Amino acid sequence: MKTCTQCNNKFTFIDRLKFLFNGHLKCTHCNADYRSEANIYREYTFYYTYVEYIYI
Ligand SMILES: [Zn+2]
Repeated sequence: MKTCTQCNNKFTFIDRLKFLFNGHLKCTHCNADYRSEANIYREYTFYYTYVEYIYI
């Protein structure tokens, strides 16, 4: 993702580097928050591990 889908603001290289590193990115222009799909998947996996723990 090179530009913000909300306001078309161009992300800098540093912004995209932070996105890869932190898993989320906040647009400085419109405050839109983006999360990487890898991060969402990790939370999903964590949730199911937690649910399984309860039922065991
Ligand atoms: Zn934006």
